[in-house]
Amino acid sequence: MPVLKDVEIHISIDELLRAQGSAAQRPAVREAAHWAIAEARRLAEPAAVWALWPVHEVDGERARVGETWLHLGPHADLLAPARQALVSVATIGPALEARANRLIQEGNLLEGFMLDSAGVLALAAVGDSLNRLAEDLAAQREWGVSLALAPGSLVGWPVHDQKALCSLLDLSAIGVTLNPSQVLVPHKSTSRLVGLGPGYTARQVESACRFCPQRETCWRRH
Ligand code: SF4
Repeated sequence: MPVLKDVEIHISIDELLRAQGSAAQRPAVREAAHWAIAEARRLAEPAAVWALWPVHEVDGERARVGETWLHLGPHADLLAPARQALVSVATIGPALEARANRLIQEGNLLEGFMLDSAGVLALAAVGDSLNRLAEDLAAQREWGVSLALAPGSLVGWPVHDQKALCSLLDLSAIGVTLNPSQVLVPHKSTSRLVGLGPGYTARQVESACRFCPQRETCWRRH
């Protein structure tokens, strides 16, 4: 099963400071942001495992991808034009998260939270690489692409369906596991599915923010 490694991690200082709201203008906050970006680049171990599966059918709120039924919920129709799906799990490994948690436990809250936010952006950078991969595979077939879909981020697609999605991948190839609550470990890991097919008009994979339950509070929404 293909594994993506050596992903270049680019973290935008502006995007990181966006998470800090009005505090972003304070020199100490800006200094911590620069430090966190350097630390994130040092600690992140980006990797992703992916596979291309046929999408056989979309039946009401579920879709059969490979031989697995995914319960995508009321927006399963987003996958209706797909002939194939690029299924993936990305991670930046455990080291950044452990360091951020340690900082917070020691009372270094600014650095700890800033590093955690930088980790979120580092993980997003791995997701961006997977989006480019999906776009390239679709372009080779003269197809388009769906939004990036994920359990818990697509309203109506429950987090516990992560187990079904991950059954399509060999998570051990990147050292990721699913815990009994169907949460990926290390926590700075994420799953996604992108549909590929001639019926899509989009050529670029976008986030499904408008269908996301966190859209009102998420600092990264588009
Ligand atoms: S709103 Fe935030 S969590 Fe939801 S899809 Fe967009 S970036 Fe991801």
